[in-house]
Amino acid sequence: MRKIIQGGTIITAGDTIKADVLIEDGIITAIGNLAGDIRKDDEVIDATGLLVMPGGVDPHTHLEMPFGGTVSSDDFFTGHRAAAFGGTTTHIDFALQAKGESLVDGINTWKSRAEDKAAIDYGFHIAVTDPTDETIAEIPSIAEEGVTSLKVFLAYKNVFQVDDTAFLRILEKAGGAGMLTMVHAENGDAIAMATDRLLAEGKTEMKYHNVAHTAIIEAEATSRAVDFVEITGSPLYVVHVASGQGLQAIRRGRRKGLPVMAETCSQYLTLTDKDIETGGFEGAKYICSPPPKTSWDQSIVLECLGDGTIQTLATDHCPFWFDGTKDGRTPGKELGKDSWAKVPNGVPGIEDRYVVLWHLGVNSGLITPERFVALTSANAAKIFGMYPKKGTISVGADADIVIFDPEKKHTISADTHHMNVDYNVYEGMEVTGWPVRVLSRGRTLVDNGEWKGEAGYGEFVPRTGGAVL
Ligand SMILES: [Zn+2]
Repeated sequence: MRKIIQGGTIITAGDTIKADVLIEDGIITAIGNLAGDIRKDDEVIDATGLLVMPGGVDPHTHLEMPFGGTVSSDDFFTGHRAAAFGGTTTHIDFALQAKGESLVDGINTWKSRAEDKAAIDYGFHIAVTDPTDETIAEIPSIAEEGVTSLKVFLAYKNVFQVDDTAFLRILEKAGGAGMLTMVHAENGDAIAMATDRLLAEGKTEMKYHNVAHTAIIEAEATSRAVDFVEITGSPLYVVHVASGQGLQAIRRGRRKGLPVMAETCSQYLTLTDKDIETGGFEGAKYICSPPPKTSWDQSIVLECLGDGTIQTLATDHCPFWFDGTKDGRTPGKELGKDSWAKVPNGVPGIEDRYVVLWHLGVNSGLITPERFVALTSANAAKIFGMYPKKGTISVGADADIVIFDPEKKHTISADTHHMNVDYNVYEGMEVTGWPVRVLSRGRTLVDNGEWKGEAGYGEFVPRTGGAVL
């Protein structure tokens, strides 16, 4: 059946226009004044007074990811359902290469996890954890799997961390094959040294997580990564930048004209180091790496969202129960009740990103609505090779659409959210602006708070190429 979204205001990364949208077979086929074209069988969705924006694209998530002796608590169904409630209709998750296995094995493992559960569309990056000669030689061929981005970790020593030689070789190989390298930029050796020292001194309270993950530990690795871009000439995307000094390194690189891009995450817009440092074990809720930093760092993150230093807002959604001992739950943050070093790292957020940025960014006047679309949708689609299928409202694009009421108020809470986790890092935050209807390829997934989607509907999006923004 044809659908017409009538009377709304369309916002894309490029402009804002008042126009109707025609959807046929999941694709946008016309934009304009379509009042005269309505047929009697058409479903007409009245969007008068509402905004019509591209569905969110979250480029950084970890659904059902094995980590720290447990697994993240949202799977590819619960995570997708929550994402859709919050206006996100596509995400890119991280498949991990297991030691001794190939990259394609890792991609296939994650594809099989997602296939039957997916309710929104998805893609994968592959994290390189075993950078042998064979692995590096394999890099160009994974493009055939629809995966055109790789991630390396400069942190998590003896687990995921790669050394500088491996990082340089991966950057060079990926860049030469037209692929994008992503980096978790914290100095894992410095973290390991600080951790050993703190634990030897009996410093196990939550606040010491921040002492082992200071801003300079992030900034050093970020700065080194930027220099590696200059050495290799290959493009780089720095994930989850949280520190002001890290962003200064990115700015330095971009001013030199280097192909370096940056992502931040919604939790860094609201949390600071104090959230981990106060309240005893409650602080474990906010432990992630890199952890949120000072309010000064936060002010630089916000500034960089506005001035173009940062291209994308992600979530790094990696939820763990605060109390994972209850029936049916996987072990959670309580694994670290005796020491911050054993707390599974990660925070939930896949549902909240879109509305949190609208509220903090657009309502405050920090960014325009068009910039909001760029940060939450269009730029990730462009960088990761999904544009214009995803990330925009234009003829020929998938009809992934959020009908958004800019006046509607909502108080974020774990009592009402849809993520499979027992706390919310934005608990009690009242936002103005809410997705009242969310469509994926023309199908309504959420209508006025009611779930209309289904497991198995979501499709893997094979990616090609990608842009340096
Ligand atoms: Zn992550």
